[in-house]
Amino acid sequence: MRKRIAILGSTGSIGTQTLEVIAQNPDHFEVEVLTANNNIELLIEQTKIFHPNVVVISNVCHFDQLKEALKDEPVKIYAGREALNQVVEMDTIDVVLTAMVGYSGLIPTINAIKAGKNIALANKETMVVAGEIINRLAIENRVSIYPVDSEHSAIFQCLVGEFNNEIEKIYLTASGGPFRGFSMEQLALVTKADALKHPNWNMGAKITIDSASMMNKGFEVIEAKWLFGLNPEQIDVIVHPQSIVHSIVQFRDGSMKAQMGLPDMKLPIQYALNFPDRLNSSFRRFSFFDYPMLTFEQPNTKNFRNLALAFEALNQGGNMPCILNAANEVAVQAFLTDRISFLQMPEVIEKIMEKASFIKNPDLEDYIRSDKEVRILTAAQIKKLAVQKN
Ligand code: MN
Repeated sequence: MRKRIAILGSTGSIGTQTLEVIAQNPDHFEVEVLTANNNIELLIEQTKIFHPNVVVISNVCHFDQLKEALKDEPVKIYAGREALNQVVEMDTIDVVLTAMVGYSGLIPTINAIKAGKNIALANKETMVVAGEIINRLAIENRVSIYPVDSEHSAIFQCLVGEFNNEIEKIYLTASGGPFRGFSMEQLALVTKADALKHPNWNMGAKITIDSASMMNKGFEVIEAKWLFGLNPEQIDVIVHPQSIVHSIVQFRDGSMKAQMGLPDMKLPIQYALNFPDRLNSSFRRFSFFDYPMLTFEQPNTKNFRNLALAFEALNQGGNMPCILNAANEVAVQAFLTDRISFLQMPEVIEKIMEKASFIKNPDLEDYIRSDKEVRILTAAQIKKLAVQKN
């Protein structure tokens, strides 16, 4: 039986790589649903190749054009947020791979879990915002959440066969991004073009900026807490510029297990989709002699403040990670549109973490309200900076 996959966000970096994995393993997977926000050209092309039963375009403006382009294809076409939220409930889906950007992944993921679908989780912001709710719903609905994020996939792979063995600690590796080793003076001058050049991974714009600012690693710390049931003290971040060791688990006897390989997201995607069985792959193999040195260093949380802010949000708990995420989404957007500088991003986020209403035990409605409030607060804060500048 082939697994029927729904890909939320099929035109993004993870979405397209998931389709490559599916194309290489036609005996194991088939595409049931594809969804995209705006990129209809690619969505049309993907539909003609992979023949999903349903496609959803989130932005309703594109509906007519999509319908016209696919009129000869036997595919159902829907548009809008509501359709996206509902499509994950289809009986014919086995696994939902969530690869949308940011907070937008939250509600579709919750609906998919409630409908009993296993999740291949690439949308880490869902866990950052509402990890506690996601975990509770997953248990209630007996669904599994398979990490796609390479670090979390690494930890997940290290934990196979260790069911009764407690984790003492995990080490999340970080490449350090394009600005590793930069002084504050240097960071003050970096541009968005500089930030968009990641040394090891080829990803979408939002996560590439998050990687350059180390917010991505901060989010991954929070994601790890929820995925593996850890305390903040059990999670360490280690900068490893070669991105070969994808993360490490340390057990109570001091033994450490690491998962290694060349950086290629197709591997964690394939592992998540076909867990527990590994599939053949033609991915390039690691050669020790191409990498005579694997190096490790301490992250610099003074210059990369976002990582410290994420730990702070995690320690405060409640809706603070949700506040962190919403402020970051608005700040990254402002950086990408040249409204604030690289170093103003953590400044803005820190301010908002002080200002936004804190809720100790939030429910889903609280998270939705908090996300809205923070977006408004952050936009106002950014405007204020622009006024000061002029
Ligand atoms: Mn990652």
